[in-house]
Amino acid sequence: MPSLLRVDEVSVVFGGHRALDAATLRAEAGTITGLIGPNGAGKSTLFDVICGLRTPVHGRVALGGRDVTRLGPARRARHGLSRTFQRLELFGRLSVRDNLLVAAELGPDRRKAGRVVDDIIDRFGLASVADACADELPTGTGRLVEVGRAIAGRPSVLLLDEPAAGQDHTETERFGALLRALAEEGTAVLLVEHDMGLVMNVCDEVYVLDLGRVIASGPPATIRSDEAVLAAYLGDL
Ligand code: ADP
Ligand code: MG
Repeated sequence: MPSLLRVDEVSVVFGGHRALDAATLRAEAGTITGLIGPNGAGKSTLFDVICGLRTPVHGRVALGGRDVTRLGPARRARHGLSRTFQRLELFGRLSVRDNLLVAAELGPDRRKAGRVVDDIIDRFGLASVADACADELPTGTGRLVEVGRAIAGRPSVLLLDEPAAGQDHTETERFGALLRALAEEGTAVLLVEHDMGLVMNVCDEVYVLDLGRVIASGPPATIRSDEAVLAAYLGDL
């Protein structure tokens, strides 16, 4: 079985600056893969390349064994790819329920959109805010809605860019359990996150980016004791 997501030797250059330098990673069905690294390491740029918002100067992206390097974002979404953004991107004037409904109606089965939305509201504990306007939500809750919206179309590959930012400790623990449940249903989750407790708890594999290069990859226990990682993070792990 090919990996659900393959990124091979991807390089991106902004002006003279190499934001990604031959970055390679894999994300497998039914697992959570962490992508960590200091600010400016290239994590969000890699997400842009994976979802087709930025064309790399070199390298390839494949979904489910199919090369999608030349496909635009909408075609990639139809191949089962979904993402959230580092900056919250909800429809501010729409209710939580309608934010979810818009996404569910773009999913594989429009007729079941209402049921999909009810299920997400239930799983994510959003019942008390379902009718609230998205721009009235605290940041942590808004992020949850964004993740809910990203899964409403039933993606096979889910990219999450700092989804736990703004969540308190209890919310983050609950969120970790949600991610594990999603993975257990078969989704390949790629998680960019600064909360190292969350990353080390939920991930099966972790990749470390520094200055656009993958400097380490492996299970959390290996990454935690990797010399190069400790040096890049100055002991934050
Ligand atoms: P991260 O998400 O790991 O914090 P980014 O992918 O946002 O890192 O950024 C990687 C590098 O690329 C940084 O040096 C950043 O300043 C630069 N960069 C990101 N986006 C752009 C852009 N649109 N134009 C120019 N430089 C950019
Ligand atoms: Mg970023």
